[in-house]
Amino acid sequence: MIVASEATKKARLEWGDFYDPGGADLFDKARGFQAALAQEAADGNHFFRRPILAADGGRALVRDPEDGRVREVIMLGSNSFLGLSTHPRVVEASRDAARQYGFGTGAVSLYAGTTDLHVELERRIAAFYRVEDAILFPTGYAANVGIITALLRKGDAVVNDLFNHASIFDGCIQSGAALHTFAHGRMRHLERALKRATGPDHGTLVITDGVFSMEGETAKLDEIVPLARKYGARVMIDEAHAVGVVGPTGRGTAEKCGVEGEIDVVMGTLSKAPGGIGGYAAGSRELIDYLRYFARPYFFSTSIPAPVIAGLLEVFDILANDPTLHRALWRNIQYLRGELDALGFNTGKSASAIIPIIGRDEAAVKGMLRDLFAEGIFANYVAFPAVPKNRPRIRVNVMAQHTRKELDEVLEAFERLGKKHGIIE
Ligand code: PMP
Repeated sequence: MIVASEATKKARLEWGDFYDPGGADLFDKARGFQAALAQEAADGNHFFRRPILAADGGRALVRDPEDGRVREVIMLGSNSFLGLSTHPRVVEASRDAARQYGFGTGAVSLYAGTTDLHVELERRIAAFYRVEDAILFPTGYAANVGIITALLRKGDAVVNDLFNHASIFDGCIQSGAALHTFAHGRMRHLERALKRATGPDHGTLVITDGVFSMEGETAKLDEIVPLARKYGARVMIDEAHAVGVVGPTGRGTAEKCGVEGEIDVVMGTLSKAPGGIGGYAAGSRELIDYLRYFARPYFFSTSIPAPVIAGLLEVFDILANDPTLHRALWRNIQYLRGELDALGFNTGKSASAIIPIIGRDEAAVKGMLRDLFAEGIFANYVAFPAVPKNRPRIRVNVMAQHTRKELDEVLEAFERLGKKHGIIE
C-alpha cells in the first residue's frame, strides 16, 4: 500500500495503489491519496463533483471547478434518460406533497415512515412488472444489499456476472454465501459456475445486471433463465439502467428477452430513468412480505421522503401511459450510436441509453474529456477499477430531450477531438 511519504516519491499514482492493506495508521492512505488528487488537479482533470447549478431536460448549468466560471452544457452525464427528474408534472407533484406530508418521513417504513403514497407506489411498481407485490428501499444500493443478505445465508451459493454492479458484490460478501463469478456474458462459463455452485443441501441465486452500467450492454436473459432453471437456481436481475428504457415498452430486460414472469426477483432503482431516488424489489407476495421483515436496509433505514414518492407516482403514470418519451429516447440512442460507430469509435455492445466510447489510453481519454467540457459538453470519465485497466472510456448517457441540433453539435466535437487525441483515426 502507498503511504504518505511514498506517495510523494512515486511518479504517477494509480487508484489501485490505495486498495492494498495498510500500515498501523488507518488514516495514512487518506494522506497519501491527497497526492493523487493534487496530481489530477495539476493536470487539469476535474471530472468528479462538478457542481450543477441548474438542470432542464438535456441541458444544465455547471460551475467549472478549474476557473469557477458558470458554463451551460449539453448534459451527457445524467442517468435521467427520459428527463423525468425535471419533468413539470413530476416537479409539481413533488412540491404539493412537501406541503401535505412534509420534507422527510421521520421514521423507518415499518414504523411511521409509510405514507399512503408509499403504499400506492409499491402497488404501481408491482403492476408495472405484472407481479404480486413490490418493496421500496432508500436507494438501489440498499435494495441490492437488502435483498441478497435476506435471501442468502452462509452455506448457500451465489453466481454473478463479473461485470455486475458493486452493490451486488457487496451484498454477496456480506451474506457469507459462497461467491462464484462467470466471465461477463459467457454462457459456457455460467454453466460451469452453476455446476460448481449448486447442490442438494443449499440454495443458489444467479444474479445479473439487466443493463451493465459501464458497457450499456443487455444481459442474455433468454439464455440465463433456462440455464438457472436447469440447475435449480433462482434468478435475480438488477434493472437499474433498464427500467423505462429497455424493451418495446420500457418494462426492462425481461420484456426485451421474452422472459417476463420468469424472473424470481426484479430489483431496480428509482434514481435513473425514473429520475428520483430509491430502490425496489418486485416479486411474489410472500417474497416481498419476507423482505419487509428480513432485509436489513429496509428495516433499519428511514423511508424515502413523500415529495420524492409523489413525483415517482407521476413517473410511473407517464411510464405506463405515455410512450412519447420512450420513443424520443430511442430515436436519439439509435442516431447517436449509429453516427459514433460510423466515425470509428468503439462503442462496445451498447444496447441502451449508455454508450461507452472505449479508448486504450487513459491520458488520451482524459484529454478528450477536458476539451469536451471546455466546449460545453458534459460526459463522464470511467477508468479502473470500475472497468478493466486497458479499457478507459467516456461514458455518454443519451436523453429523450436532446435535440437533433444538440446531437449534431456533440458529433462534430467528438469527431474533431477524437482525431486530436488519437481515439479515432
Ligand atoms: N445497480 C446498478 C446496476 C447501478 O448502476 C446502480 C447505480 N450506480 C445501482 C445498482 C445503485 O443504485 P442507486 O444509485 O439507486 O443506489
